[in-house]
Amino acid sequence: MDRKYLICENVSVSDTGRLLFAGQDTCDLAQQYGTPLYLMDEDRIRNRCRIYLSAVKQAFGEKAKVLFASKAASFKRIYEIMNEEGLGIDVVSCGEINTVLKAEYPLRNAYFHSNNKTDADIAFAMDHGIGYFVVDNEEELLAIQAQAKERSIQQKILLRITPGIDPHTYAAVSTGKVDSKFGNAIETGMAEAITRLALAQDSIDLRGFHCHVGSQVFDSDVYLRAADVMLSFIADIKQKTGFTAKELDLGGGYGVRYVPTDPSIDIRENIIAVGKSIAEKCELLGIDIPVILFEPGRSIVADAGMTLYTVGSVKKIPGYKNYVSVDGGMTDNVRFAMYGSAYTVLPADRTDRPFDMECSVVGRCCESGDIIQNNVMLPADMKRGDILAVLTTGAYNYSMASNYNRIPRPPIVMLAQGESYVAVKRESFDDIVRLDV
Ligand SMILES: *Cc1c(COP(=O)(O)O)cnc(C)c1O
Repeated sequence: MDRKYLICENVSVSDTGRLLFAGQDTCDLAQQYGTPLYLMDEDRIRNRCRIYLSAVKQAFGEKAKVLFASKAASFKRIYEIMNEEGLGIDVVSCGEINTVLKAEYPLRNAYFHSNNKTDADIAFAMDHGIGYFVVDNEEELLAIQAQAKERSIQQKILLRITPGIDPHTYAAVSTGKVDSKFGNAIETGMAEAITRLALAQDSIDLRGFHCHVGSQVFDSDVYLRAADVMLSFIADIKQKTGFTAKELDLGGGYGVRYVPTDPSIDIRENIIAVGKSIAEKCELLGIDIPVILFEPGRSIVADAGMTLYTVGSVKKIPGYKNYVSVDGGMTDNVRFAMYGSAYTVLPADRTDRPFDMECSVVGRCCESGDIIQNNVMLPADMKRGDILAVLTTGAYNYSMASNYNRIPRPPIVMLAQGESYVAVKRESFDDIVRLDV
């Protein structure tokens, strides 16, 4: 096998041509736990957390924070790991908050995002002591003010600002442009208006501003530009209202390698560069450097994940194309169906064979769009019972999984220091009918 397919350090092959993940034999894991199966490399996750945390502290000092954007992968064990590693977290729903509580992660270290928090969401979050709301719009701001006043608390918030930057990634994951459904654009005056409104509320403690320009970003310049725009906004607001932002959250979005042609980015180097640029800009504007936050999701967990499937059929349509069907699909990985996302697919039990058959790897769902990946090269002698591995599935796979066709969701097995354990059990058929009355 061409070594270019080993797109992350935790992927390797054995002498006998078996695919290894975090040093463990993927075929053995498939046999032990069954397929479809999500694997997560806990050592890799912890390593990424430490890289982020030490980089932001080096670049911005001890107060800087890293928040794990937990929508990328939300389950109890991940919050326990984040707690142990000293990361804050982002949540976007009460379902996530409830998972956080069950993991005994302290909710005061959590930031509640989303562009539409219901009154019930706000009440649930406040009653459990959420640290911050990241406020998206004026209606929400007033709803939070009202509920904070009722409870006689000062609620810490950040305001979500749209810096007007196009990160040149896919439209569906681009969120920083003026016409985005998220946040308040500086350009239209909405950002200033919501800031003034927040400052006028007696139960709101406005701590600063937030922006998130998009996802799967490789161009480090995007963060430099976003920081630049946000700091100018902070200086402008200070001059107009006297309000000094204490915190600036630059969002998430660093890209990961799904395929060999994706670049690999040095997170530490990038963050240090942003740090330098922020220090210079603050000096120029005559403002204090705010506490800086980053919110990585994908880049913490994506390449810590791998999905294993068992091949069901290999259908060769003469003169047309070949299909390799697996025992999962869009129910456990909807990203190709949703965004056309690229993935690397490898034969776990025969990486030493020539990859001489072009095929589409498809799922078992009744939907033509149920495709894991098109134009995949696999050995022509692939057959029923073989194990296929899809790389870099740790982000937005389990968290977007569904029960379409009443297919149970796969378990999550963690790999840590040469051992493996179940973090999320395999769903049963009975789990699926549990709520049917
Ligand atoms: C999704 C999201 C993130 C994380 O994005 P990644 O691309 O997974 O790093 C961070 N902040 C906000 C507000 C988000 O919506």
